[in-house]
Amino acid sequence: MQKGNIGVTTENIFPVIKKFLYSDHEIFLRELVSNAVDATQKIRTLANFGEFKGELGQLDVQVKVDKDAGTLTISDRGIGMTADDVNKYINQIAFSGAEDFLNKYKDNAATIIGHFGLGFYSAFMVADKVTINSLSYVDDAEPVYWECDGSPKYSMGKGTRTERGTDITLYIDKDSSEFLDQQRIDMLLRKYCRFLPVPVVSGKEREWKDGSWQDTERDLVVNNTEPQWTKKPSDLTDSDYLNFYQELYPGQEEPLFWIHLNVDYPFHLTGILYFPKIKNNFDINRNRIQLYCNQVFVTDSVEGVVPEFMQLLQGVIDSPDIPLNVSRSYLQADTAVKKISGYITKKVAARLDELFRANRSEFEKKWDDIRLFIVYGMLTDEKFCEAAMKFMLLRDTDGKYYTLDEYKTLVEASQTNADGKTVYLYATDANAQYAYIKAANDRGYNVLLLDGQLDNHFVGLLERKLENTELVRVDSDVVDNLIKKSDTNSNLSSVELAIATALFESSTPEVEKCSFSYIFKELSKDAAPVTVTQNEYMRRMKEMASMQPGMNFYGELPDSYNMVVNTGNSTVDNLVKSSTEALKDSVKPLLKQIDEQNEIAEKARKDAGDNPMSPEQKSIVKDAEDKVSELRKEMNGIVSKYAAQTPVAKQLVDLALLGNGLLKGRALNEFIDRSLKLMK
Ligand code: ADP
Repeated sequence: MQKGNIGVTTENIFPVIKKFLYSDHEIFLRELVSNAVDATQKIRTLANFGEFKGELGQLDVQVKVDKDAGTLTISDRGIGMTADDVNKYINQIAFSGAEDFLNKYKDNAATIIGHFGLGFYSAFMVADKVTINSLSYVDDAEPVYWECDGSPKYSMGKGTRTERGTDITLYIDKDSSEFLDQQRIDMLLRKYCRFLPVPVVSGKEREWKDGSWQDTERDLVVNNTEPQWTKKPSDLTDSDYLNFYQELYPGQEEPLFWIHLNVDYPFHLTGILYFPKIKNNFDINRNRIQLYCNQVFVTDSVEGVVPEFMQLLQGVIDSPDIPLNVSRSYLQADTAVKKISGYITKKVAARLDELFRANRSEFEKKWDDIRLFIVYGMLTDEKFCEAAMKFMLLRDTDGKYYTLDEYKTLVEASQTNADGKTVYLYATDANAQYAYIKAANDRGYNVLLLDGQLDNHFVGLLERKLENTELVRVDSDVVDNLIKKSDTNSNLSSVELAIATALFESSTPEVEKCSFSYIFKELSKDAAPVTVTQNEYMRRMKEMASMQPGMNFYGELPDSYNMVVNTGNSTVDNLVKSSTEALKDSVKPLLKQIDEQNEIAEKARKDAGDNPMSPEQKSIVKDAEDKVSELRKEMNGIVSKYAAQTPVAKQLVDLALLGNGLLKGRALNEFIDRSLKLMK
C-alpha cells in the first residue's frame, strides 16, 4: 500500500471545509454525481473519436444507499482512474495552493468553493471516510483503491473493480445520517440532477401491489437527460415548450410566450425563459428561474445574474461561465455575469419586439398580462426602457391600444395647449372617474387608462421620456381647463360674484380633512354646474407620500379641492341672477363699505412704501381689516339666511360632492331629506 499526505500543507483543511460549508452540506451529492457524469461523457467522447474501441456498456450513474453499512455509493462506468490519475487529480491538484488560499479567504466561506474546485472533497462534509474503487479505460489498467478518513493522510493500493469505471463510497458520519435516507437522497437528486445529460439511477421504480407500494425490477431513472433547452429551437414545437414548462412547474397556468436563449460568444449560455401571466401581484418567490451549469442545477436565486425585473420570468438558464457557489457580491462583480445579464435583457427586449411586429393583435391580447413586467423593466433598467419604447402600448379607456408614436399622432392636433405642450389625459379608475372621462371624450379628447400598480411612477417616466408632453389626470380640473387653449373667465359682475361666492360657501357642508375653494368660470352650457377637481401636483405628492415615508408633510395636509362653478350653466345662471336680485339692496351698501375700508388700508400701506409702517399706520390698517371682517360677517349672515330658504345652491354642491364620494354621514342625510322635501 502506498501511503502519503494529500498535497495540502494545512492540517486542518477538512474542519475548515465542514465549518464553512455548514449550511450547504447537501451539495456534495451534486459534486459527486457531476463528476460521475463528466467521466461518463468523457468515455462517450473518446469512443466517438475512435480513441476508445471497447464496449461502452450500460452508461448509467448509480446512486445507492446502504443503510445497514452506513454508506452511500456513487458508481459510474466512465473513464475511471489509474493510480497515476488518482495521484494527479485527487492527491495533488485539488489542494494545490490551499494554504495561501485559506489565509486569503478564511473569512469568506462562499468564495472558497467558487475559486476552488472543491468537488470531490466536499464528500468530507458528510462522511468520516471516503473510498475510491476505480478501473481506468486504458489498456491493461490495474484497478486502484484509495481511502482517506478526512485527515490529510490517505492510503492507496490495488483495487477490486473488474469493470471500467469508478465507485465513490462515503461512510456517512453520525451527524449526517439524513443522507442515508433514500427519500432525502431522491429529493436531492430531483433538485440537483433532474436534467443531467446521463441517466442517474437511484433505487427501483415502484408500483402499487397487494395494497402497498413495492419495488419493481426496473431501475428508477431520476432525470430527463435531454431537456428542451439543450435542443435546437427549430426542432421544437410550441407544445414541446409548453410541456417542458409543465415539467418545470407542474400545474401552472400556461405561459404567454417564451424565449429560447442560445449564445456561444463571448460566453456560453442556453436556456428557455417563459413569460407567465403577471397580474397585480409580484409573485416572485414561487416558480423562479433556475440556474444550471452544464445541466447541473445550481440555484434558483438568480439575483445578480438577471436584472431584478427579469426575476418575474420563469424557466431555465444554463451557462458554464457562471461561477458556482460564490457569494452574491462576488457574482455581481464578475464581468462574465454582467455581460450575461446585459445579454438576457437585450434578448428579452428583442423577443418582445419581434412578437409585437409578427402579430400585433396577438400581442395586444397578451398585453395586459405582460404590461406590469414591461413597466417594471422600463422603470428599473435604462437599456430595456429604450428598447421598450418601440413596443410599449398605451391603452385608452375604450380598450384600444396604441404605440407611443401612434398615440402622439392621434392626440397631437386636438390636445395641444396654449403653451404648445401636448397633454395626455389619463384615468386611474374607469368607473370612479367615469363622468370626467365622458366629459373629456365629449370634448373630443382621448383618455388613457393607467390603472396599474406601478402607473404612478410610469406617469413620471413618460413625462421624462416624451418630449414636450404633459400627463394630466382627467379629474384634475374641469374639462375646459384640462388643456388650456386660452383663458376662460367668469362673466359675473363684482356684486354677482360676491353674492354667488358667499352663497356657495355657506351652502357647503363640513367634510372631514377637506377644504374647498370656489372658482367661477363660464364654461359650455352642457358642462356640469359644479365640478370638484383636485390639483394634479398636489394629488401626486399625496399619493407618493402614502407610499414613501419621509413625505409626511404632504400626507398630512388636508385634501384641498377646487369647486368650479359653471356660470354658463342655466341653473347656475338663474340662481346667480335671482339671488342677486333678492339680495342686492342689502348687500350692495355692505360691499361699498368693504371697498372703502380696503382702500383705507391700501392707502396706509402705500404711504409707508418700502419703509416699515409707523404704529399709527399699523393701527389704521388693523382697524380697516377688522371692519372688513365685520362687514363680511354681516353680509354672509344675510346671504346664508337667504340660502336657507333657497336650497338650489346646496343641492348643486351636494350633487358635485356626491359624484366624488365626498358626501358622507350627516351631510348625506341632510341631502336626502332636502331632496325628498323638494319633491313634495
Ligand atoms: P473538478 O471536478 O472540479 O475537476 P474534483 O475534485 O471534483 O474537481 O475532481 C478532481 C478530478 O478527479 C476530476 O477532474 C477528475 O479528473 C477526477 N475524478 C473525480 N471523480 C471522478 C470519477 N468518478 N471518474 C473519473 N475521474 C474522476
